[in-house]
Amino acid sequence: APRPARKATRSDSGSRHIYILEEEAAAGESMRLTLNNFGYQAEHFNSIAGLDAALQQHLPDALIVDVNLPGESCSGLDYAARLQQRLDAPLPLLVLTQQDDFATQLQAVRAGALGFFAKPVDIPQLESRLERCFAQQHGEPYRVLIVDDDQDLASRYSLVLRGAGMLVEVLREPAQIFAHLRDFNPEVVLLDVNMPDCTGPELAQIIRCNDDWLRIPIIYLSAETDIAKQMSALIKAGDDFVSKPISDHALVATVFSRAQRARLLSNALARDSLTGLLKHGDIKEQVAIELERALRSGDRASVAMLDIDHFKRVNDSHGHAAGDNVIRALANLLRQRLRRIDSLGRYGGEEFLAVLPDCPPEQARLILDEIRQRFAELRFIAEGGEFSCTLSAGIAGTDVHSDAEQLRERADKALYAAKHGGRNQVRLAE
Ligand code: GH3
Ligand code: MG
Ligand code: MG
Repeated sequence: APRPARKATRSDSGSRHIYILEEEAAAGESMRLTLNNFGYQAEHFNSIAGLDAALQQHLPDALIVDVNLPGESCSGLDYAARLQQRLDAPLPLLVLTQQDDFATQLQAVRAGALGFFAKPVDIPQLESRLERCFAQQHGEPYRVLIVDDDQDLASRYSLVLRGAGMLVEVLREPAQIFAHLRDFNPEVVLLDVNMPDCTGPELAQIIRCNDDWLRIPIIYLSAETDIAKQMSALIKAGDDFVSKPISDHALVATVFSRAQRARLLSNALARDSLTGLLKHGDIKEQVAIELERALRSGDRASVAMLDIDHFKRVNDSHGHAAGDNVIRALANLLRQRLRRIDSLGRYGGEEFLAVLPDCPPEQARLILDEIRQRFAELRFIAEGGEFSCTLSAGIAGTDVHSDAEQLRERADKALYAAKHGGRNQVRLAE
């Protein structure tokens, strides 16, 4: 069935191409099918020659390589390492392996691997890792706040960091720190050590007294070469020290690595640990935000509640870990199939809540019905053998009469009707 025309779908912007090098035909095919179900365009190759021919035509967004290639003259890692050297920029690489010994892991990292997965591969986990690689590659620019009373230096640093694609704000008045933290929400703070009214370490201590900003890395910038003074500044507060003069390259690398880690951590904290989706409170807030936006713009938005059918049976027959896998698979499928502007949360155990801006309920129904079908096609592997699951969903569209909670309740009622109507179906609210 043709997909309904929607703004900014992933497939409009081109879904991600993944190449898989795997000699075992069945394993490679099942990985290809699952990734395609998730919304990627995966291709499977069972020989180096086949993969090489495809690489001549087109570079994928990521490469998955099995270490063991008994039919070839070299290992998958040897091949990947040589391939990476031929390329201008390394390809995101995931490695599949039977032996997860240290030597193999070391070789994988040297070949540019961003993840290793023991076989049989936990595909939802592999998919989460892929998403994380892509998010890091194409994420929003890092936000950096520089606090320095020396205007010339501050502008030079900000020029260098902006040149590396970061967003920079300069603050000369330490007293304004909290207003800037709140409004700009930086991911790294660069602090001059010697400032007339308040020193860098003092300002760092003030920031650290406030729980809201615990996660922000603080880096001191200083002409200070006295190691003892640097150490005493770090012991009071702050995470790192760079000495002026610093090369452009070193400045960018220091700030970048801190920002990257800070963002990873704050994403991990803000999101549900099993699925990487928004948590209960945040997705409910998103419903309210999108409802308001819809009322202002006159576009209709839809809210969908989804629930996995007879999920208790999955846990009972295949174990809790298998159940967790199903939850992650559905989360990944939703993430891939919905647009970037859609919001997605784990509402409860095996219940999900999605908000689709600028998408009337009839259209949301087509989209969710496609997701329902894809989900039913996924095969899960567990001790008790292979199994599959279905889901039910209820959808409600925004209108001027409902507030956010009523909207969600209407979607929930429709979900209830879908359950009573026999499950494995999508219903619109009355
Ligand atoms: P229905 O089709 O009516 O939705 O039936 P159901 O069995 O899916 O619904 P019910 O709400 O009775 O059971 C949901 C089960 O989901 C109960 C709970 O143990 C399980 N569950 C909730 N959270 C998790 C989780 O994070 N992991 C796993 N494995 N199971 C979970
Ligand atoms: Mg259920
Ligand atoms: Mg339930």
